[in-house]
Amino acid sequence: MKYVSTRGKAPVLGFEDVLLSGLARDGGLYVPETWPTFTEDEIRSLRGLSYAELAVRVMTPFIGDALTEDELRAICTDAYAQFGHPAVAPLKQLDGNVWLMELFHGPTLAFKDYALQVVGRLFDHVLKKRGERVTIVGATSGDTGSAAIEACRDRDAIDIFILFPNGRVSEVQRRQMTTIPSANVHCVAVDGTFDDCQDAVKDMFNHADFRDAMRLSAVNSINWARIMAQVVYYFWAGLAIGSPDRTVAFAVPTGNFGNVFAGWVARRMGLPIDRFVIGSNRNDILTRFFETGEMRKDGVEPTISPSMDIQISSNFERLLFEVLDRDGAAVETMMGRFRQSGTYALDGEPLARARALFSGVRLSDAETAEVIRSVHARTGELLDPHSAIGVDAALRGGIAPGIPVIALATAHPAKFPAAVKDASGVHPDLPPRLGDLFARPERITVQPNDVGALERFVRQTVEAK
Ligand SMILES: *Cc1c(COP(=O)(O)O)cnc(C)c1O
Repeated sequence: MKYVSTRGKAPVLGFEDVLLSGLARDGGLYVPETWPTFTEDEIRSLRGLSYAELAVRVMTPFIGDALTEDELRAICTDAYAQFGHPAVAPLKQLDGNVWLMELFHGPTLAFKDYALQVVGRLFDHVLKKRGERVTIVGATSGDTGSAAIEACRDRDAIDIFILFPNGRVSEVQRRQMTTIPSANVHCVAVDGTFDDCQDAVKDMFNHADFRDAMRLSAVNSINWARIMAQVVYYFWAGLAIGSPDRTVAFAVPTGNFGNVFAGWVARRMGLPIDRFVIGSNRNDILTRFFETGEMRKDGVEPTISPSMDIQISSNFERLLFEVLDRDGAAVETMMGRFRQSGTYALDGEPLARARALFSGVRLSDAETAEVIRSVHARTGELLDPHSAIGVDAALRGGIAPGIPVIALATAHPAKFPAAVKDASGVHPDLPPRLGDLFARPERITVQPNDVGALERFVRQTVEAK
């Protein structure tokens, strides 16, 4: 399988290079040169497989001969053995036609584990085969750092440094990062803000000498392999409810458009999906786009669903490429416009294509809290704020009656205990396997807000090994 850039100018690459490089050299995102598809019978033959085996079958066409099927099977089996529910991604019926798929049974209790647990192992496998090592650096405002750490811990060919603002992440978030005892995990509390951390990471990547000497890398949300691994749970849900003999719809709380784009890929591969309703909080750039056809960047406002507090949906570029008939030059023009003026617009046939499959709802924090309260009162199910936005998108998204709609629950309620308690009156407990989180020893290095000092720390730590 070969991959092309959404901006049409980067070299065509194979799976391994796409995995390791993330962003394409022309600034675009990699997508498969052609979309693999399954016939109805092939989809039917996927029924009844374990989650790990389904992952092998769905990902094999994208990986081609970069890994043998046995190598991929070993990675998937090991990755999903770490999950805290035997079904990996269990489905629950909430209302007559509304289902909840729980994507929070991974090690950090959020859906990103479903892809990152595989991607960390794929990185390690490919690097070892090539006799290479990388240093992954990333910044987190609290929520995403632990998923990256859990993905990379104990991987021989990887060191990971996660920078976060000292004293400005919640205790659960901090402990989920700092209590990992692995020698290749380095948690750095920076005396500064999240923006300072992010700027320091950008500076490190821009210092070519440092970047090359440390072989800096990232496992960020635009990496194709993350999308690929997320396609699996769309098939999982569809099959559980009767696909391919039944058409389903999905409701997805989204910020970066990564999660829901994986759903689009599942549909493109042949899974009968009617359409997608996306849920956003006050940071509603995507919902506004589907309403007006205009992508317009606004300021980011903090909400009780912080993992969706973004105003640039990087992965949307992959859908743009498709609705523009894979015209890389047109994508590049639009993205250039967006970078300069913070806005671009789509109309005519491309907009109609996007709108035929996607629509959006937006919720204020008060509305999100009301959904948490009312769903708990009606069904006993305790939702985290992101999942509540997904459920409301399922309920209000205008899906035709008779089509089952699956809302993605993207985080465990115990990840956002204050918001859940305020809304429902119930304090969500951590699952038993994380119950001793507050008793585990922490490992943490405090560093000044100074990129020179941070680079020295990374260099010394890597070279000491
Ligand atoms: C990252 C995240 C999201 C948003 O996912 P995207 O792929 O950026 O759309 C939603 N909910 C939770 C809990 C997350 O961690």
